[in-house]
Amino acid sequence: MSKRNDLEHKALQHIMNTGFDGILQSDLWRKLGASSREGSRIALKLEEKKLIRREKELRNGRWTYRLYPKRLPAKIDSIADVPCLMCPDNPRCDPSSAISPQSCDKLTDWLLSVSKNEAGFLGDS
Ligand code: SF4
Repeated sequence: MSKRNDLEHKALQHIMNTGFDGILQSDLWRKLGASSREGSRIALKLEEKKLIRREKELRNGRWTYRLYPKRLPAKIDSIADVPCLMCPDNPRCDPSSAISPQSCDKLTDWLLSVSKNEAGFLGDS
């Protein structure tokens, strides 16, 4: 892995670990030991790949960017309330039967609530 790809990978890992809080790009470059020029280039590249989003932020009288992950790693908490786990129809639920995920209102409602939460997190980008 080239030094630049390695730095890009490390930057993405850090950004993903910040979750909903995001991280100021200057703080990230300091942590990674990168110059701000190199860091800005990497942030733009990650944004182009749609892996992060950048939001302008005024900090100490200067404009900078806060970097947020577009996706967070899946955690067990993210499916803890999926209706299938406690569903009495689970043993009979199958895409080829009358009881099916394709026609399940409970699953559809759950998926809509998850996507609504995610849309709020991702903003309109
Ligand atoms: S898809 Fe619906 S019916 Fe099937 S197991 Fe999940 S909640 Fe139950």
